[in-house]
Amino acid sequence: MSDTGAMHGTTLPPPADADTTPMMAQYLAIKVRVPEALLFYRMGDFYELFFDDAMVASQVLGIALTKRGKHSGEDIPMCGVPVHAADHYLQKLIRAGHKVAIGEQLEDPAEAKKRGSKSVVRRDITRLVTPGTLTEDTLLEATSRNHLAALAVVGAGAEMALAWADISTGAFTVMATDGGRALADLARLAPAELLVSDKLLDDAEMGALLKQSGVRLSPLPASRFDSASGEAALKSQFNVLALDGFGTFTRADVSALGALLGYLQITQVGQLPFLRQPMKEDSGLGLLLDAATRANLELTTTLSGDKQGSLLSVINRTSTPPGARTLSDWLSAPLAQAAAINARLDAVQHFVVDEFTAQLLTAEIKQVPDVERSLARLSSKRGGPRDLAALRDGIAQAFAILETLAGSQNLPSELVDISHRLSHAPRDLHAHLATALAQDVPLSARDGGFVAEAYHADLDDNRKLRDDTRQVVAALQAHYAERSGVKALKIKYNNVLGYFIEVTAQQAEVLRSAPEAASFIHRQTIASAVRFTTTELSDLEQKIAMAGAKTLALETEIFNTLNNEVIAVAALLSTMAQALAELDVYLSLATLAREQRYVRPQVDHSMAFTIQNGRHPVVESALAKDAAKSFQPNSVDLSVEHKRLWLLTGPNMAGKSTFLRQNALIAILAQIGSFVPADRAHIGIVDRVFSRVGAADDLARGRSTFMVEMVETAAILNQATERSLVILDEIGRGTATFDGLSIAWATLEHLHNHNRSRGLFATHYHELTALAATLEGLATAAMKVREWKGDIIFLHEVGPGSADRSYGIQVAKLAGLPSAVTSRASQVLKKLENSRDRQPIVSIAESLPLFAAAHQQQEPAKDMLRDRLHALDADALTPRAALDLVYELIKLAGQNHE
Ligand code: ATP
Repeated sequence: MSDTGAMHGTTLPPPADADTTPMMAQYLAIKVRVPEALLFYRMGDFYELFFDDAMVASQVLGIALTKRGKHSGEDIPMCGVPVHAADHYLQKLIRAGHKVAIGEQLEDPAEAKKRGSKSVVRRDITRLVTPGTLTEDTLLEATSRNHLAALAVVGAGAEMALAWADISTGAFTVMATDGGRALADLARLAPAELLVSDKLLDDAEMGALLKQSGVRLSPLPASRFDSASGEAALKSQFNVLALDGFGTFTRADVSALGALLGYLQITQVGQLPFLRQPMKEDSGLGLLLDAATRANLELTTTLSGDKQGSLLSVINRTSTPPGARTLSDWLSAPLAQAAAINARLDAVQHFVVDEFTAQLLTAEIKQVPDVERSLARLSSKRGGPRDLAALRDGIAQAFAILETLAGSQNLPSELVDISHRLSHAPRDLHAHLATALAQDVPLSARDGGFVAEAYHADLDDNRKLRDDTRQVVAALQAHYAERSGVKALKIKYNNVLGYFIEVTAQQAEVLRSAPEAASFIHRQTIASAVRFTTTELSDLEQKIAMAGAKTLALETEIFNTLNNEVIAVAALLSTMAQALAELDVYLSLATLAREQRYVRPQVDHSMAFTIQNGRHPVVESALAKDAAKSFQPNSVDLSVEHKRLWLLTGPNMAGKSTFLRQNALIAILAQIGSFVPADRAHIGIVDRVFSRVGAADDLARGRSTFMVEMVETAAILNQATERSLVILDEIGRGTATFDGLSIAWATLEHLHNHNRSRGLFATHYHELTALAATLEGLATAAMKVREWKGDIIFLHEVGPGSADRSYGIQVAKLAGLPSAVTSRASQVLKKLENSRDRQPIVSIAESLPLFAAAHQQQEPAKDMLRDRLHALDADALTPRAALDLVYELIKLAGQNHE
């Protein structure tokens, strides 16, 4: 990605002049129309790039840069990629932040030649490949959505809307947003590409935010966001006189939807993918999570950007890529309406209880191909026979699944709805595909051979002719061999001569003296052989060629008919695919609940937040890999009638962050409609989760650790409501002790008195626990530890009260800090703690023995231990002496710790 977040363009070459060749003139005329993209100019089996495009591509792709002719007196740089491997190179260029325009040959070079030897093959842009408009499996990730989004602002920021399209599902949605939440909404969608007007990018505040958001931006001229022309384009696309039938859209909504539609029309060059009618999403319905919270809670990726180790990776038990994408959608946009959440929970519960049906359905759903993506390719006329086969198999599975669902008693509303949608899967299309398609089909229609036998009489005849003539050739070869007496005579084929008879030079003499010598017409003599033809053979060849061409033409025709039939029922297919994906998610959540002992949470509009014996899903699953470790469950009650804000203290490494996050994750899981890792949970709907966990520098954006912390804390204090859940971990740690303590103190008070949110606040400032006496809604809790011989044992258990110390030095020791440093730190700590009147550091320093001295003091004890071990003769020890030795060593080691 570029520094500005916007996608790259290249410098345009100088225009054509008198010396420009006709081909280069055509290239320049096409290139000038797509200045923002690299132009792949088709020349035979290659896509060639010229000028600046070639320089950029050769560098990004690591391919050789060559030259081809001159333009304006300069060499023209050139590089190329083979057409058959183009996807691989496209992927690299798109990932590197480029758009690519495909300039195809629109006619056979032979056609062009007919117009004169100098005429150029007709070429034009058939597609503009951009990150948000991909459909190829090779360019997409199977389990991630690929949203194209547009952000529109109307009337000096008064109205703002975010629209998005997913070409795989045809979803075409818009929602209102505002400056305060636009980034949170963008973080939820994580679009592959965001369209913005260049005017908005120039706006000091919004422009800067967008450039920093990490989203790939496609700036467009402001005119493309014009709401009046957007409205006209939408009406014409969906063939309506007014948009009111689809919902109530503001000017900003129409502007964003219109810009999206316009961009799709331009990039897809007339082959618009399947798009559903625009839908307005109520922005108040969901649980809002800002980008920092999503990142901190590692919902779909970890802080280091990996999918592995995220919440999604741990809870995902889906069987198909569309199911995985839907689960990811749900996790990115939890609900905030109890009725909708409970409807989902009912569906999960149904499969938890009816395990038999769940297992049958899981086995069936595993057989469902990625119908969404096949449909997307077929809709934009980029599909192949395998996509048709995917639909055939997908519909068949949908009906099988429908039957299995019907066998399960008392289906809850969500599953009834899924059954209903599946029952509308296009039966006729399935019947047609089932008879028309062969069982195994090739990827591309050009390869032929995908239409089933006995489907099309004419096709069968031509195929027979084509295949029979192959036998006729064999018979003819035997016949000529017999007649000429040249037993080794062969009929062969190549692209230049077509069919021909081949013999050696010696055999050629025999042939020439044969009785029918006249019928063998000489075609070619090469070093090792002489080649002939006959009139019979030429006729046969023509028949074969015609049958082959006819076969392919008929198959192509059949493919196009089937493709059009698919497009005609695209909406039904897309509905079917979504129903299957949702079913996959419900089955997945039920499997998870059963496997991991998750329970159904009670979700309502109360202000409760009670979790009994909750667990952290990711930490628990990590610990499960180690038989010696187990997760310690912990309870929490932030219900308003109880203490809604908990101040948590405890040593480093005791599990504070884990406890904080696990409660946020449980709330999120509950609100996507999942069971939760606990013995019992009651969650009154949460409108926003805010989390400030751990400190991370954001140097790329020029912010220090402390600055990031304060920016995120400010966002929380300004936006959290009574319904929000706030997780704050170690606020104020990144600055001087007293500054940090004061900020943490004031933050806690503000959160308690002003925001009144339910929340958890972890800190090392034990002084804060005194606030519990004055703040009626504040409870103190601590992570329990046990000390044993100067070492610390973590119990990972949360209990009432507060911790007395941080045990930082013990943890440092566990981390392997040199013992000289930890013992010195202990000395300093003791002094600091004893100086109740906060004696100046200088005088403390003077009263402590020098570092080196402290270091030296440690050495003898350490040596004693080592010396004792060195002097040992282990073989000579009796069991009794060995036991005594163990006691002795423990004693020596104890001295080492003092
Ligand atoms: P610090 O103050 O240093 O950030 P912390 O108190 O926030 O530490 P965590 O990072 O939450 O501690 O936990 C440290 C490790 O302890 C975790 O990586 C995990 O392996 C383990 N742990 C935490 N909670 C539990 C638990 N409830 N049961 C078992 N192990 C746990």
